[in-house]
Amino acid sequence: MSETNPIWFDPTLCLIGGKWVPAQSGETLPLVNPSDGSAICQIARGGAADIDAAVQAAQAAMDGDWGRMTALERGRIITRIGQLVLDYADRLAVLEAMDVGKPLTQARADAIALARYCEFYGGAADKVHGQTIPFMEGYTVYTLREPHGVTGHIVPWNYPMQIIGRSVGAALTMGNAAVLKPAEEACLTALAFAHIAMEAGLPAGALNVVPGIGAEAGAALTAHPGIHHISFTGSVPTGILVQTAAAKNVVPVTLELGGKSPQLVFDDADLDAALPFLVNAGCQNAGQTCSASSRILVQRGVYDEVKRRMAEAYAAITVGPAMEDLRMGPLISARQKEIVSGFLAKGADLTIAAQGEVVGHAPAEGAYLCPTLFADVPGDHALARDEIFGPVQVLIPFDTEEEAVQIANSTDYGLVASIWSRDGSRQMRLAKKLHAGQVFINNYGAAGGVELPFGGVGKSGHGREKGFEALYGFSQLKTVAAYHG
Ligand code: NAD
Repeated sequence: MSETNPIWFDPTLCLIGGKWVPAQSGETLPLVNPSDGSAICQIARGGAADIDAAVQAAQAAMDGDWGRMTALERGRIITRIGQLVLDYADRLAVLEAMDVGKPLTQARADAIALARYCEFYGGAADKVHGQTIPFMEGYTVYTLREPHGVTGHIVPWNYPMQIIGRSVGAALTMGNAAVLKPAEEACLTALAFAHIAMEAGLPAGALNVVPGIGAEAGAALTAHPGIHHISFTGSVPTGILVQTAAAKNVVPVTLELGGKSPQLVFDDADLDAALPFLVNAGCQNAGQTCSASSRILVQRGVYDEVKRRMAEAYAAITVGPAMEDLRMGPLISARQKEIVSGFLAKGADLTIAAQGEVVGHAPAEGAYLCPTLFADVPGDHALARDEIFGPVQVLIPFDTEEEAVQIANSTDYGLVASIWSRDGSRQMRLAKKLHAGQVFINNYGAAGGVELPFGGVGKSGHGREKGFEALYGFSQLKTVAAYHG
């Protein structure tokens, strides 16, 4: 690699059993920079044979040194990976910005989050305890938390570092050996992370990385009989394929499939506090966030003011190349721009309250789109129900608390929700009523908080990652009943 090339490793290789090797087919795929449409590099086009080799290498690690390590030793390695990620944070941020198109500051925040996952899980490794259970006379009964074995991780392109941290980080912490299939659109930081993990002393085979196309490498991973748990983040249709394939091997899955997350703004809300969260939760990462807040439900008494102030904020959003570090970068690809543009066309009957602006010098080949705020949107409109995965938010007016809950709960999804109100009773009441895996009160944490269990209900998926729940999810409970008389 040349001195000006920010990629400090050979991106065309897979990591299998501690060795960097090309795909067995010898084939590669292009990675495209969404800021200008240019080719970044080639990556391996891994296939079933590479996945099979990776699963075997992972199983060998489970049967070898990695499988014999104590929780303390594993925790130290994961913590050391986190420390190295901090050392590499600026370089990781450049890779993520180039690959995903997210502004440099957001990409750096993702690198810090990756480090934070490693710190949190690493520190928790030896603090996941079993129970002793009172039982019949003459028995001692206790539980053990054991790894599943070989875990498969299928990661999307929107937050590669964060999702690798929360999923692979937790799996390794609990002593599993992981096979990671990053997204074909963006996988530089997955490869960089693997290099960093090896540098930190992770034993060969504990982490294996096979880039490739979903229908090839991804499908091979989910169907492989040597996989004992699958963690998937991505779209609902692919999640269904993954769960179906896993069911054939009776393998547990964690699915994180996105959402249509609402923020409920009541007349008594502190609007100064709410405004930045209302807008940012829709525009962060150009709206390509599973926990993006794409629906803003506002009570009539403050509706006009919220609409006016959000419109002002939208008009000030500038969109441009990731390296210019503006408020918003391009979407991940021309294909994603087409998908989101299709949704915008569906909103032709709606009122646009405001749009941001793509800077004039943004390359025509980049996947740029103006962020758009729609006003007065009926709760049952397609734009108010379907996940768009782009910089589009809808404002929905409501009159009563009951109506707000009904609209909030009316989609197929249930990932995150927030309540903006000073009324403590209402906060508690609605926190229970809202269909969501996470409810924020007077704040909103899109993808934030490594300590906070995260996951959805309904079509947002099932299973929990982050926090100690992730460590429980990436382990299985064994009950030992000893009779000693
Ligand atoms: P996707 O679900 O197709 O891809 C996500 C991951 O799954 C990628 O690594 C992909 O290679 C892999 N994959 C694809 N087909 C597979 C298969 N048959 N078996 C196993 N793995 C497979 O998502 P996408 O095509 O990148 O994006 C399409 C839509 O998905 C977006 O518009 C958005 O709505 C949604 N999405 C959601 C999230 C999220 O965080 N919840 C992330 C990315 C995309």
